[in-house]
Amino acid sequence: MLRRALQPSMCRCLSTRGLSARRGGSTLDWGGKVSEIKKKIRSALPGGSWDAPYDTSHLPPEHADVVIVGGGVIGLSVAYWLKRLEGRRGAIQVLVVERDHTYSQASTVLSVGGIRQQFSLPENIQLSLFSAGFLRNINDYLAVVDDPPVDLQFNPSGYLLLASEKGAAVMESNVKVQRQEGAKVCLMSPEQLRNKFPWINTEGVALASYGMEDEGWFDPWSLLQGLRRKVQSMGVLFCQGEVTRFVSSSNRMEDASGEEVTLKRIHEVHVKMDHSLEYQPVECAIVINAAGAWSGQIAELAGIGKGPPGTLQGTRLPVEPRKRYVYIWHCPQGPGLETPLVADTSGAYFRREGLGNNYLGSRSPTEEEEPDPGNLEVDHDFFQEKVWPPLAQRVPAFETLKVRSAWAGYYDYNTFDQNGVVGPHPLVLNMYFATGFSGHGLQQAPAVGRAVAELVLKGSFQTINLSPFSFSRFYLGEKVQEANIY
Ligand SMILES: Cc1cc2nc3c(=O)[nH]c(=O)nc-3n(C[C@H](O)[C@H](O)[C@H](O)COP(=O)(O)OP(=O)(O)OC[C@H]3O[C@@H](n4cnc5c(N)ncnc54)[C@H](O)[C@@H]3O)c2cc1C
Repeated sequence: MLRRALQPSMCRCLSTRGLSARRGGSTLDWGGKVSEIKKKIRSALPGGSWDAPYDTSHLPPEHADVVIVGGGVIGLSVAYWLKRLEGRRGAIQVLVVERDHTYSQASTVLSVGGIRQQFSLPENIQLSLFSAGFLRNINDYLAVVDDPPVDLQFNPSGYLLLASEKGAAVMESNVKVQRQEGAKVCLMSPEQLRNKFPWINTEGVALASYGMEDEGWFDPWSLLQGLRRKVQSMGVLFCQGEVTRFVSSSNRMEDASGEEVTLKRIHEVHVKMDHSLEYQPVECAIVINAAGAWSGQIAELAGIGKGPPGTLQGTRLPVEPRKRYVYIWHCPQGPGLETPLVADTSGAYFRREGLGNNYLGSRSPTEEEEPDPGNLEVDHDFFQEKVWPPLAQRVPAFETLKVRSAWAGYYDYNTFDQNGVVGPHPLVLNMYFATGFSGHGLQQAPAVGRAVAELVLKGSFQTINLSPFSFSRFYLGEKVQEANIY
């Protein structure tokens, strides 16, 4: 009580005092005196009369060991793990170049924040299992002294995947793999499904799988900000600008089959500064391509895909922006608090959003329905025609829903096999990829960052072997098939 009563008057007193104070009836201008003394000292020192013509604090450094292109969740996770795994504090200098610090179009902040272990590939399951542990113990990783703890608003409500007669056998074998990898997933018959979730119409459902642990959704923005704050505290440098060019040297040689190949090494990254026509060169040893939906363009800047068709040199990074809609609706009669993220047999999905009888959901368009990625406008007819009908069929209460809002974002879409691309390019030797995760990059970011840092610092994967996700598969035509892509 006493402290509360005293506080306001103390504050007012401190804030009005300033550097000018009345003492013994005369006024002393301390501010003026101090700046006069400073001026004298400056003029006495060599070079003291020289003033920088403009502030250069926003410019990138002239050298960095690692330049990360893209400051989304993947780029920041790579930065975090590079600093965490460096042998000696300050051993490597890491620079993150991000062209838009508001992240207005970044996939990370426009995603729906889901995490699940219900994949078919062991690598994807392992990535999400590690990430789940990371998120669960987020403050063991991202705490910063004197800053409030990170709150991811994690909702451990699980994922519920529904399979038709046709998909039931695949679902069963996927769940077997998930359990072998340590995920807590159970299979449910239509009857068990009706008992647990009485609001579901099980018509056309032969089997369901339900994640009992480590699945649900969280706030992507909180993860992004938590990572950003942490890596800054670890000494990672940030620069707002756009990577527009790489300067590299090349070396011609023959490969094992006698074919001539050109090996390249990037020496300099050119960063075009915000609101300026100038660029700043940054010398570097390694470039990480974490530019998400735009990483195909970054690869092109390095000459990747510019050789004759059918050759390794002519193989492009098949990652491009694909527009995805998310709709939010209100439905007081809806399934309620127990709602997991439900992925329907039709491909439509939904989950609860907050506590006010709101839900969000959508469906990925088919190849023929792919919208123009030139803008982020929302197509409301897509909801009426393609999303609502299957959802209302599955959850009859959704017949009465009212759409409240919607947004669109870009998947960092790998057109080859919708899986991540991790590791160095075979010809541009010091460009490493961490991209192409399509609809599951947010949840895999903590583990992918660690994997890339292991490659850079130790030369090989130390924890999860992600070699199936290497760039070479595009040239070899070897798809990494993942059954559970939405
Ligand atoms: C609607 C939607 C729902 C999703 N739902 C989920 C989900 O539930 N779970 C999940 O795990 N994933 C989900 N995703 C996918 C996930 O969001 C992405 O895979 C992930 O965020 C990719 O992160 P990123 O850092 O690679 O990309 P981004 O967050 O896009 O970051 C890349 C950054 O690179 C910057 N950049 C690009 N070019 C340059 C350049 N030349 N110079 C400097 N900077 C550059 C961009 O400005 C951008 O900020 C969803 C995505 C969308 C769109």
